[in-house]
Amino acid sequence: VQRDPHEDEFHQAVRIIFKSIKPALVKNPKYIRHNILEQIVEPERLITFRVPWVDDQGKTRVNRGYRVQFNSAIGPYKGGLRFHPTVNRSIVKFLGFQQIFKNALTGQPIGGGKGGADFDPKGKSDAEIMRFCQSFMTELASHIGPDVDVPAGDIGVGAREIGYMFGQYKKIRGSFEAGVLTGKGLNYGGSLARKEATGYGLIYFVNEMLKSKNERIQGKTIVVSGSGNVSIYAMEKAAELGGKVVACSDSDGFIYDENGIDVATVKQLKEVEKKRIHEYVNAHPNAVYKEDCTGIWEIPCEIALPCATQNELDEDAANLLCKNGVKYVAEGANMPCTPEALSVFLKNDVYYGPGKAANAGGVAVSSLEMGQNSSRMAWSFEEVDGRLQEIMRDIYHNCEASAQEYDKPGNLVVGANIAGFTKVADAMIELGVI
Ligand code: NDP
Repeated sequence: VQRDPHEDEFHQAVRIIFKSIKPALVKNPKYIRHNILEQIVEPERLITFRVPWVDDQGKTRVNRGYRVQFNSAIGPYKGGLRFHPTVNRSIVKFLGFQQIFKNALTGQPIGGGKGGADFDPKGKSDAEIMRFCQSFMTELASHIGPDVDVPAGDIGVGAREIGYMFGQYKKIRGSFEAGVLTGKGLNYGGSLARKEATGYGLIYFVNEMLKSKNERIQGKTIVVSGSGNVSIYAMEKAAELGGKVVACSDSDGFIYDENGIDVATVKQLKEVEKKRIHEYVNAHPNAVYKEDCTGIWEIPCEIALPCATQNELDEDAANLLCKNGVKYVAEGANMPCTPEALSVFLKNDVYYGPGKAANAGGVAVSSLEMGQNSSRMAWSFEEVDGRLQEIMRDIYHNCEASAQEYDKPGNLVVGANIAGFTKVADAMIELGVI
């Protein structure tokens, strides 16, 4: 805190992890002996840079770009890029720090990184988005590479932005290095099922949580916040498995549809027309739209899936969910529940899937995309989806086993953090002080 004041989100992420890995530190004094904690909170590298671009009126605008290369003990840095006005050092550091442990949990050889810019894509023309992405990549290109650092998408960065950034990278380098970015379009090296991977993976993880209690997703009432990439594919898979998703949101408000959200309408509005979620009620007049997105947690449900952004679900919201009978909460977004909300869930015996484990499907399939790129092969949707299901099952059982081993059965927060931490910390020790 003294070294980096004003980085609240980063401190929050570190506190959550350090608190839950205590049993591993007690059992394995080597982590203290090698001073792993002080090493692991310091990024290997943090790059900030100017991103100048010209808007449609011919005016020059300037944003700030970031890339944090946090930890490469088990593989090249890997993690998404976020374009959102709230992006700053604290946000990229919290995301990059969590990414280290999430990536370790996937079982794939990938280190932790994250990046982005305080650029607001909302209301920008396609040409403005392209010029911004090109300028951003002009600087980023000298810091990344298929064996060095492999960015992907996150909030505000989807296939369109990845395409513009990959085009610029290719031009600067003068070579086609497909493995430098993931989340690419299928025409130039992308992987089938990458777009769906985080949302589908979340539901595969929830399925494992349910199975352990002899329950099924079928017939369960589900609330999903957000209506972006993660939310849409979580809703799609949940509905396919017989769950009833009754609400979703964007940063302005939420919709409630007692008949179950029609995912095709949400996809058309959000992916194709780039419209706001309130437009849903035009196609479904029986549905209700309410302003203030946090109101979504007032809706009774058995499964709550926060899939929008950090700290979107606070203590009051958690208490309401519990009062209304929630039994399962799994994080599609990164750190969407405040520490106070997390305590409420644990106290009320809500079975809780932390984002590090529950939303790891996206980065896991990104790693499969890197594998396909380096072998110059393209796998079928079924092949990638099958591997994703296997990976999510393994992550769940790994977290569960680790929680058992450290006398916290059922606590997947402890399980995920310890399993991720010990893998990276052991590798750091094996590599020596570097
Ligand atoms: P998108 O940009 O596709 O969608 C984000 C959604 O969250 C939108 O509906 C957006 O609404 C809403 N949102 C953003 N900021 C806020 C806010 N401050 N308050 C309320 N709602 C907000 O992003 P993704 O779906 O890709 O990412 C969502 C979350 O999942 C993030 O936490 C991300 O880090 C995490 N994640 C994403 C992965 C991926 O593969 N994409 C992988 C693992 C984690 P609006 O349009 O109004 O801004």
